[in-house]
Amino acid sequence: MRANYVCSRCHKKSQISKNTYYKCKCGSAFKLEKTIKRLPIENLRDRIGSIWRYREAIPLENDNNIVSLGEGMTPLIQENVSNKRALLKLDYLCPTGSYKDRGASVLVSKMKELGVRTVVEDSSGNAGAAIAAYCARAGIGCEILCPEDSSKEKLIQINSYGAKVIKIPGPREKTAIAVQKRLKKCFYASHNWNPYFLEGTKTVFYEICQQLHWKTPDSIIMPVGYGSIILGIAIGIRELENMGVINKIPRLIAVQSEACSPIYKAFIKGENEVTPLYNCKHTYAEGIACANPVRGREILKIVRETNGDIVTVSEEEIIEGVKILLRKGIYVEPTSAVIVEGLAKSAKVKKEEINVAILTGSGLKSTMRFLKKIEISDFTDKNLDYAD
Ligand SMILES: [Zn+2]
Repeated sequence: MRANYVCSRCHKKSQISKNTYYKCKCGSAFKLEKTIKRLPIENLRDRIGSIWRYREAIPLENDNNIVSLGEGMTPLIQENVSNKRALLKLDYLCPTGSYKDRGASVLVSKMKELGVRTVVEDSSGNAGAAIAAYCARAGIGCEILCPEDSSKEKLIQINSYGAKVIKIPGPREKTAIAVQKRLKKCFYASHNWNPYFLEGTKTVFYEICQQLHWKTPDSIIMPVGYGSIILGIAIGIRELENMGVINKIPRLIAVQSEACSPIYKAFIKGENEVTPLYNCKHTYAEGIACANPVRGREILKIVRETNGDIVTVSEEEIIEGVKILLRKGIYVEPTSAVIVEGLAKSAKVKKEEINVAILTGSGLKSTMRFLKKIEISDFTDKNLDYAD
């Protein structure tokens, strides 16, 4: 399978190697230009229950380099949320507790193939945990920079996989800046810059279509910060369309936190570029607290091309979303819960159509935040019944 990087703005091509700089000289992010084989969709049922069942579509040369923890093939369950029918994609059930495992599996496999020995990554927590876990499995050294106020559970998880955790004071953006100083020594395993990550997240769309017996949903709604899920889904749509597997395009609907919503602001103004927002407020939805989405322009294009939508939710609505999902037996982190009010707010989500909502991260990763900050209930030890 041949592949090369191509700049998403100036279209200049670059070779793929472990020494290639992480972005184009013009400052923009790379896309991956590649040829993939058609998937034998009739025969997929008997294949392995992970993202690697779509092997023909994943641009890795040699199967011996696959680094996998059985990620993907997560349940799709039917629910009524915000008075709309939705199929909930429980992607928080991936091995490290978030959908980022899809991207980490493909990116770390490619790094292994390129002979990378040590990596650095910046993350609000979930991508860091996923990269740390897959690097542990591949025997690749790993350093993760996280904002100081990331959920403690995420920092402990990353550290437990053997990765070095470096806490950076200030908002998420400071972490993205701090990582730059370390790039001379290490490969930048960035889930936002490296397009191989999106080759993994695209599989969520393959999977949703397969679970719907290769029917396309009418809309897909998801949290969006840097956008690694919506960007991946857009790649999946284009590929399955080119293969002739689907003939309809779902509306892609992004939900941002009102406290930090640079893509939404550009969207409603009709702009093609996203202006970074450096005065973002704190949000419970830490996974999408992104002031400067490096692929913002691409995200705006995707939303418009799919006749989609971008909506925002307030902190109160995020908390309410967490509570509503808990009552349905779904324990997700606040970032995932933005889809609850998002479903209600977007007029592009029609009540009786096939709407898929993606739940991205496990609640087990921010339990202390639930208790201390969200005040989900007046929870104390007294609420627990102990047996005598
Ligand atoms: Zn360029």
